[in-house]
Amino acid sequence: MNKRTVGACMAIILVIAAGGYYMFYTQSQNDKAVLPLHVMGDVQAPLRVDSLDDIDIDSETLEVGDRVVHAVPLQEVVAEVKPTGFDPSLLLVGHDGRAALMCSTDLSGSYIGVSEQYGWEAVNFNHPRSSNIKQLSEVVIVAERSHKYAGFGVIDTASALLETSAGDLYRQGYLHAFEEVGSSTQHHEGNELQVTAFNRQTIPDIEGLLGGQLDFDGAVVVGRRGEIEQFGRLDEFRLGPNSVSYHADGEVLIEDVAGVVLDPPERRITDVYHDSLKLMQEGEQVLAILVDGLGYHQYLYAIEHGHAPFLSTLPEAEKAMVAYPPITPVNMAASLTGETPDVSGMYRREHRSPQVPTIFGEAEERGYKSTIIIGPIQTIDFEIDPVMCVDRNADGSTDDEILEAALKRSQQDYDLLVVHFKDVDKAGHTHGDLAAETMQQIAETDGYLEQLLAAWDGHVIIFSDHGMHPTEEGGDHGRLVPEDMFVPYWLLDGEDSDE
Ligand SMILES: [Zn+2]
Repeated sequence: MNKRTVGACMAIILVIAAGGYYMFYTQSQNDKAVLPLHVMGDVQAPLRVDSLDDIDIDSETLEVGDRVVHAVPLQEVVAEVKPTGFDPSLLLVGHDGRAALMCSTDLSGSYIGVSEQYGWEAVNFNHPRSSNIKQLSEVVIVAERSHKYAGFGVIDTASALLETSAGDLYRQGYLHAFEEVGSSTQHHEGNELQVTAFNRQTIPDIEGLLGGQLDFDGAVVVGRRGEIEQFGRLDEFRLGPNSVSYHADGEVLIEDVAGVVLDPPERRITDVYHDSLKLMQEGEQVLAILVDGLGYHQYLYAIEHGHAPFLSTLPEAEKAMVAYPPITPVNMAASLTGETPDVSGMYRREHRSPQVPTIFGEAEERGYKSTIIIGPIQTIDFEIDPVMCVDRNADGSTDDEILEAALKRSQQDYDLLVVHFKDVDKAGHTHGDLAAETMQQIAETDGYLEQLLAAWDGHVIIFSDHGMHPTEEGGDHGRLVPEDMFVPYWLLDGEDSDE
């Protein structure tokens, strides 16, 4: 569902109904006081500006009619707060509830300034006059599309129900509610004078944006650091200057929410660790195979169209949810440590060293023999030296060498053998999630799985670290969308995989 309507590049003016004014008053109001201006929304670095000195931009003196306005170019203010999306529109909001939404294509004649008459104000020489909001309270950056790791989504396992962002929520979807802070009483000449204090809260109107009641049995809230919390109530979300947070009983559970997953599967990527450890403790041998970048929808498509003949012979895969953000280092860590990214400390691409033991450390401590077979680059650190494979036959892939190394070690009495195939991810990026070339690669990897499982007598886990969604260039992953977040998961005993 895409509710964004500002496609054409022209200033579109919204007048927000009276009463929809905003409260960021932190100074006492008197005639001369200038209330602070907030620059916020889809930005990395929201700003509160009390005076022009607060911004590191050279100011100019403008003559606007018979007034003098000390101002800075709006373009530079936007750059200062670092937008987190593409093609931003600017929502200018005044203290009186008037607002204007203007596109940012040409800001050459646009300024934000202070005048004695109006406090903060917008001065746009080239745009329609209705964009010149006086007593300006907020400049909200509203991105047309979010960057990869930004935005706020509501998904179920089948589809993305809502793609929004802090800026977009300020534009079209929030409610205000008063939250009681406390009461106190004072006595004056025999009378009891009572006051109850409140804070006004800004709550994203998720239900409203979805166009009605949400229908689900269970849900989780997912944080940008990979946190996962059981979802309780919609009014426990708060819209902050540039993010949505999630609270319970007045406590912040997740500071920066990536979104909500309705009816998530029971299976989680972290089960790779727990299943492997449990099996080893039962004296079983485990082969865990990571097929990089194989989304559940790609698996289904491959099965339906005959691109995965071997996987078709296995029991149907369970649907598993990976950790957010759905990228390799994060989910390699989640699968090998059994912990969500906020606990392992592995929630960004550049993170390399988990702050908790991996399955290899646990295996070593218990005297189990384990290894992992990977390509030429080690994505994350673990306690053992991996078997690294290079492209010896120069065919542009290391998966064939990885298969060879894995087949050899499958006969060497390992308690845990982890194998990482990369080519399905590569094909998905280049050609797209459901492209013929990607399906051909899935068929190739399907053959590798068949060979490996034939050679292995113990238990087998087959899983993926993330899926893939289509882009203009091919495919990508890293968003809270079903294509990226859900992957197939098999836990097979020797019986399933022996034949
Ligand atoms: Zn990838």
